[in-house]
Order: sequence, then structure tokens, then C-alpha cells
Amino acid sequence: MNEDQVNDRTRAARASFFGALLAGVLACLTVTALTGCATTTAGGTVGADRSQLLLISSEELNQLAAQSYDKLKSEASNKGVLNPDAAMLQRVRTISGRLEAQTNVFRKDAPGWQWEVNTIKSDELNAFCLPGGKIMVYSGIITKLDLTDAELANVLGHEIAHALREHVREQMSQALVAQGVIGAGAAIFGLGGTSTKAANVGYQVLLATRFSRTDESEADQIGLELAARAGYDPRAGITLWQKMTNANQGAKPPEFLSSHPADATRIQRIQNLLPKVIPLYDATR
Ligand SMILES: [Zn+2]
Repeated sequence: MNEDQVNDRTRAARASFFGALLAGVLACLTVTALTGCATTTAGGTVGADRSQLLLISSEELNQLAAQSYDKLKSEASNKGVLNPDAAMLQRVRTISGRLEAQTNVFRKDAPGWQWEVNTIKSDELNAFCLPGGKIMVYSGIITKLDLTDAELANVLGHEIAHALREHVREQMSQALVAQGVIGAGAAIFGLGGTSTKAANVGYQVLLATRFSRTDESEADQIGLELAARAGYDPRAGITLWQKMTNANQGAKPPEFLSSHPADATRIQRIQNLLPKVIPLYDATR
């Protein structure tokens, strides 16, 4: 079996896993706009303004994300791994805060989100921002890659960009269509009183979401602009992905890289964007 076949099987397994989980939360989400094509953000200097398929309610998805985030926090807390390093937490929160303040360039509502930033002590190289602005950084990505503030800002900017663009909501909408749920005439799902079921599988659904290459490209674009406007050198976007590439030499790729492939194409695209965002960075100094 060649590498492509392995990847196809992995993708198929992921898709089926995602489909099964998605079915579990369907009953708890409301399909809001049956012909919903819109764009979640303004394009910014980098011009990320593609039209998106958005069929489910962002309010309910954000609520699901917040519940899942609380569950993750309490599990980490029970294990004694939630924010044990006060200096690291402060550092991540300071950088995130500066990025959050720039999100209005892309969405006027985003600075007012219920942003939350925490860290988990773990060897994992991982970080994410759940829908609605719930950020989690695993200490391994900082310590093992020895990230500078600017590199960390580029990681966080990228993750925040996924949330601004509502890529999870878009992926779930596309999954609904792919499963034929919309065409079946059972398009409207109510919250139905309790969302316990959703809370139980929500975290898995959210983390099982795999972003498309287009999503990744948009997150790179917006992330670079956020970092630059917040006063972090966007050139660190290059060194960040070079470190990621080096970290990928082992047998088992880090969690972050399984959803964020670091390759020459990606680094080249970031390189090509630098002339647009370096002036934004220079203007902050
Ligand atoms: Zn990404």
C-alpha cells in the first residue's frame, strides 16, 4: 500500500468517524439557512473573502464549543495539568490578547467574543481555537519547538483565523450536505430541551474536524495579518513552519501536523504573502 492509499484510508476512516459523531449532535443543532452562502469575514489586506456554505447556527455551535471547552478544562484540572506554569500562561494570554484586539479588521463582532485562553501541560505539539474563541495551547508546542513570541503569535493567529472564518461551521455544513440530510426534508433540528448528548460528543466532533487545504491557506493568510498588525514579525511564520517540518522527522507526526501539514508549498505561499504584511508590522514600530 503506497502512502496515498494509506492517506485515503485514513481520510475515509476520519470521515466516517466524523459522520458518526456528527449524527450524534445533529439533533441538537438548528439548521438556520437552507440556502446559506455568505462570507464570515472581511478580506483584510490579505484578501480572504471566499463565499462559504453555512447551514447551522453559529450561536448553537459556539455554545457547544464552550461546553466542550469546559469539559476539556475540568478533565485537565483533575489531572493537575491545567495551567501549572503561571509564566507560560501569562505569556500565551498576553500574545492572544494583542491578536484578539486586531480581529475587528476581519469581523466587527470578534473583539466582543467570550475569548478564553488556557494551557495544558503535555508533550503534545498542539494548539487550537474552538468556535467562538476558546483557545487551548499544549505546552509541548512551545517548549519542544522553543517558540519565540513572534512564532507563537503566528501559531495563535492561525488558530484564531480558523475561528474567525468559522471553518468548523463550514465543514459541518458540508458534511450535512454530503450525508444527504438537507435533501431528506428533515432540515430543521431543534435543541429539544437538553443538549447533554451534544456536550458528550461535542469535543470529539470539534477536534475530529479536519480543515481543507483552502481553510489552511486562509488561516495562514489571516493569521499572518493578525500577527503583523499586533506587532509580531510575520517573518516568524516562515521559521515556525520550518521548525514544524523538522519536528515531523520522527515516526509519528505530532498532532498539530496531522491537521496542519508543513510542506514547501505552504512555506512558499507564506513567503509570497510577506510583502503585503511586513508594512503592517513596520507600522506598529
Ligand atoms: Zn489550521
